[in-house]
Amino acid sequence: MSDSEKPKFIIPETGYMAQDPERPQPAYVAPAIEQGPPSDATVLFDGSDLSHWRMADGSPAKWKVEDGYFEVIPKSGSIFTKAEFGSLQLHLEFASPVELQGQGQGRGNSGIFFYENRYEVQILDNYENPTYADGIVGAIYSQHPPLVNAIRKPGEWNTYDIVWQAPVFDGKRLVAPAIITVLLNGVVVQAHTKVLGGTRIKKGELPHYEAHPAEGCIQLQDHNNPVRFRNIWLRRLS
Ligand code: MG
Repeated sequence: MSDSEKPKFIIPETGYMAQDPERPQPAYVAPAIEQGPPSDATVLFDGSDLSHWRMADGSPAKWKVEDGYFEVIPKSGSIFTKAEFGSLQLHLEFASPVELQGQGQGRGNSGIFFYENRYEVQILDNYENPTYADGIVGAIYSQHPPLVNAIRKPGEWNTYDIVWQAPVFDGKRLVAPAIITVLLNGVVVQAHTKVLGGTRIKKGELPHYEAHPAEGCIQLQDHNNPVRFRNIWLRRLS
């Protein structure tokens, strides 16, 4: 029997047979020429203003914008995206304050929260600053320490690249947990990690899921430290 006569099968998981000419092509996306967002990205901060962000009460984001970056104004409150997202790829850059204040969780603390305040990827100045393992930079807070600590010195820019697969609910029932992959400064710190539930838990408490809509906003945390941010963009993953 020649190759062309052999039976051909559709792979149930993909809905297509191997090397299927009928399978739709991926869209072409132009990568940035140097650093920067690819052509299909949603830009959340391009260095100019905080127009894509708001305070918790919906008023304009109050943090300080300067020279292509913005900075937490301590005690002003966290900021949130105006738009809502499900699964996504996120790029963000941050720098810890040069002036060292506090230690452990008190030094250069901020965070990226998905779904408003539910799931935190920690931002912390852990350059020669230890704290509990599941609270250091690159951690899924209170659940999963990063594989390694890849933080740069205070004042130097760090890059976060995060692939977030949103949890799936059927009514109140969890169908699939969130899965997250995180690179800090190009180093994998979370590799397809299963998120065990919300991260706003206290020492010794168990994480658990509470159902929420398919899309939610992203929060950058005001934890009383003047952390800086720049070059923030994401791509929605269907
Ligand atoms: Mg934090």
